[in-house]
Amino acid sequence: MFLWTLAFLLFLGALAAIVYYAVAAPGTQWLGRTRVRGNPSAEIIALTFDDGPGEATPHVLEILRKAGVRATFFLCGQNVERFPEHARRIVAAGHEIGNHTHSHPYLLWKTPGKIAWAIDRAQEVIASQTRYRPRLFRPPYGLRWFGLFSILHRREMTAVMWSVSGRDWRLPATGIAECILRKTNAGSIILLHDGCPPGKRGDRRQTAEALEEIVRVLSERYQFVTVSEMFSGAQQF
Ligand SMILES: [Zn+2]
Repeated sequence: MFLWTLAFLLFLGALAAIVYYAVAAPGTQWLGRTRVRGNPSAEIIALTFDDGPGEATPHVLEILRKAGVRATFFLCGQNVERFPEHARRIVAAGHEIGNHTHSHPYLLWKTPGKIAWAIDRAQEVIASQTRYRPRLFRPPYGLRWFGLFSILHRREMTAVMWSVSGRDWRLPATGIAECILRKTNAGSIILLHDGCPPGKRGDRRQTAEALEEIVRVLSERYQFVTVSEMFSGAQQF
């Protein structure tokens, strides 16, 4: 009896590990095709910012403008409603915009109808405020779920994760910069945040402070591109 119980628990543990890998591992392709990094033989990298727009967005845009760097911003619909002018400034500066859902929910256990609403509502708000309709999607918390990829496919949207995280929700500026500079290589998609999920509070000044150092050092070696540019034409990977 003990052995059967042990075997059953081991089975449950293995099943949980497999499901966790399928929905949460940044590089997994099990539920559907996800962009994680670009061509490692091209000296290009992509900076991405999630959860905005937020209070730090103008500062981030100013740093990028001074450095001549374009990036990709994955916006939440509710934050676009809160900071519509910031969203328009992102577009006006030539950056790319992606969809990060309306209210930043966990997609785990959500029905396809609820996942579709979270994406479509954000598309409507972003399009009405910026006249820009995103083709890229980044799932909140990096968590994908069953049904998501057929929803994206019908909308001709592409899922994008990352290969390097600055962990800027917990590190100080020096730690964020050190983390990114150590892990970035050719083809990296870098994750940072210029805002906080709707209804949550947080300070992104550390991100902005780290960003100056990040773009200064990485510009010496790499060309910054948007996510769509990274996967266009000859740079397809
Ligand atoms: Zn997020």
